Amino acid sequence: MRLGRIGGVVSAIAVAAAMSACGSSQKTVDVQSSTGTSAAGALIGVTMPTKSSERWIHDGDNVKAGLEKLGYMVDLQYAENDIPTQANQIENQITKGAKLLIIASIDGTAITSQLQQAADNKIPVIAYDRLIRNSPNVDYYATFDNFKVGVQQATSLLKGLEAKKGPYNVELFGGSPDDNNATFFWNGAMSVLKPKIDDGTIKVKSGQTDFKTAAILRWDPATAQKRMEDILTKTYSGGAKVDGVLSPYDGLSIGILSALKSNGYGTSGQPYPVVTGQDAELASVKSIVAGEQYSTIFKDTRQLAETTVKMADAVLKGSKPEVNNTKDYDNGTKVVPSYLLEPVIVDKSNYEQVIIGGKYYTEDQIK
Ligand code: BGC
Repeated sequence: MRLGRIGGVVSAIAVAAAMSACGSSQKTVDVQSSTGTSAAGALIGVTMPTKSSERWIHDGDNVKAGLEKLGYMVDLQYAENDIPTQANQIENQITKGAKLLIIASIDGTAITSQLQQAADNKIPVIAYDRLIRNSPNVDYYATFDNFKVGVQQATSLLKGLEAKKGPYNVELFGGSPDDNNATFFWNGAMSVLKPKIDDGTIKVKSGQTDFKTAAILRWDPATAQKRMEDILTKTYSGGAKVDGVLSPYDGLSIGILSALKSNGYGTSGQPYPVVTGQDAELASVKSIVAGEQYSTIFKDTRQLAETTVKMADAVLKGSKPEVNNTKDYDNGTKVVPSYLLEPVIVDKSNYEQVIIGGKYYTEDQIK
């Protein structure tokens, strides 16, 4: 224990010497030297966006458990997608003496002043899954390869469509416009779909092909359901059928499938279109097994939590966390050093191997 502590201080000094030009490492060193305390037992503030989506519950639980295992104290908060609530939670964590903040933001541009407050108190910040924008006070970012998620969604959509004869009627949904990830998903998907739209293989009959029109604020399933209903009424009442829907998140996919169901899809004569998703939420994995939703993108939140916990521990001990991307995540003020994990396409053909084999859910949960 003692040795560990000394080791931490020594490496903090080494990092200070090596990285004197780097604001984030400097800040970590300041935490160590100004307080004279070791990382052990430090309070870490963790803020997650909402409990209304299963993935964030897993994320929060996994991060908390991982940090506690290393001896940290954790204040874990959820804000039910309310921006002022999340801002207050971060302020409270700073007041309570948190030594590091891990934040999965609701609106990536809305917590600049809280981050300034953190910086004033020499508290390092790790952006969790979603990049925090327009602030120099974000030290590290742990996430999945978000562009690749979009590429995978579109690739899976095309694979699902292969079973039918083209051209295909496809409708497009985007995520929440205030979530930096949403544009990465969209751009990734469009890098695959745009050439198909241009050559006429894919027709977006509603004409709604720009992100702004397709985006669903706060990733709200009911908003997606309503938009799908509106599109079906306005564009498809003449008898044309939807062949595919690009959906960037399982919650939206469930809403979209409900709208389709109430418009006569989901029967043997009129099967559901190919609908994508993301997160491998339990309801969607069940839906895939039942032949409704076509696919999802599995992002192992256990891995993301583990990566973030390691990052936090390294920062607090004054060493440099491992990153694997230092170019793609410019938050408008600086490029945030990032660690990107690999997403995986899951459909009916591989859910047993990936989801059950990977012990994400048991077979009984999926039944
Ligand atoms: C996450 C996705 C999630 C979405 C809605 C995004 O920031 O990266 O995994 O589906 O938020 O919660």
